[in-house]
Formats: sequence, C-alpha cells, structure tokens
Amino acid sequence: MEMMPQFPWEEMDRGEVLSIEQLRAGSAEALHDPDAWIDDEVKRGVLITSLDAMLGWSRRYSTWPVTFGLACCAMEMIATAASRFDISRFGMDVFRASPRQADLMLVAGTLCWKMAPALKRIYDQMPEPKWVVAMGQCAISGGPFAEYVSVVPGVNHIVPVDVYVPGCPPRPESLLHGLTLLHKKIQTEGSRLKRGLN
Ligand code: SF4
Repeated sequence: MEMMPQFPWEEMDRGEVLSIEQLRAGSAEALHDPDAWIDDEVKRGVLITSLDAMLGWSRRYSTWPVTFGLACCAMEMIATAASRFDISRFGMDVFRASPRQADLMLVAGTLCWKMAPALKRIYDQMPEPKWVVAMGQCAISGGPFAEYVSVVPGVNHIVPVDVYVPGCPPRPESLLHGLTLLHKKIQTEGSRLKRGLN
C-alpha cells in the first residue's frame, strides 16, 4: 500500500517564522511614498499645441458623412462602410441621415439636374465647417453620361469639392485613400476653423 507523503510540519513552521522575522527586521522604517511619479505624470500630461491643430486633429478623426449615394458608385461606398474595409477605423462610421448632424458630403454616383436642387439644399443645411468628396467619374465630370443634357457635368457645378476620387467605380481602397487626403486637408486648414467659429 502506498503511503501518503510525510510533511515535515515543524520544519515548515520554522521556515515560515524565519521569513516573517526577516521581513520584520527589514521593515522597521516606513517606506517613502513613491510620489516622484507625479512629477513625471505632470510632464507627460502637459501638451502644448495650438487650438487650430487640436480642433483639426479632433475633426479629422470624427468626420460624419451624410450619404448621397446616387448610382453604382454608392455600392462601393457601402462596401467601404462594411466590415471588410471598415470605415470605422477612421472615426467615420456614423453615416448620418440628417445633414444637420454631418460635416462631410460623399457624392457617389451620377447627379442629374432634377436631383441637383436636393443636393444643394442638403449641402446648405449642413453646418460649417463642411467638406465634399466627389466619388467616381460621374460625380467628378458626368462620366460616361457627360454629354447627356439631363446630367450635371460634375458636382463642382453645384457645391465646392474638396477631394476627387477617380474611377468607374472607384474601389473602396480608392475612397479610403481619398478620405485620408481629406483628413490631411482638414488638419491643415486653419481658415475652415475660422469659418466654423464665425
Ligand atoms: S462613375 Fe461609373 S460606377 Fe460610378 S456612378 Fe458613374 S457609371 Fe456608375
């Protein structure tokens, strides 16, 4: 029959008492509070920047688009917002249904003259500062329908465009690249800040 191991209880107790006594002997004095970290924290926590730069930084990572999907390019815009390309990475996942809560107009598709007044009205209802991206050849110049009398030969005839994303249709990677360029523009645009504050 196998015997249970015998623990040397007395020896263990002696070892425990010894370690406690050693700790007691070395703990006669109270330790100094480690408050030097506060100095480091203050140094790390102070950030010197300009108001322009700070607002530009916060705006570029919280641009909320109002969707203006007009034709086939809108499918690529929707794909950009879906999980594979994940526009949320840029703080832009909140596609707004109301222009009053949006500061980016993403025009994706062919703009007809019949639709142009609605686009202009929605743009006018967006608060300053605001930006416009023309996505695809149709939004840029009318694309393959440029000769049609019913088609606007570029949304820049109706609203000022900040970034053009070429392609028929542009892939989501192209749109993301265009949005990255827009972010750089937002970061460096001081005059927009003044317009927004006025
Ligand atoms: S650019 Fe091409 S894909 Fe985009 S809306 Fe025009 S025809 Fe369609």
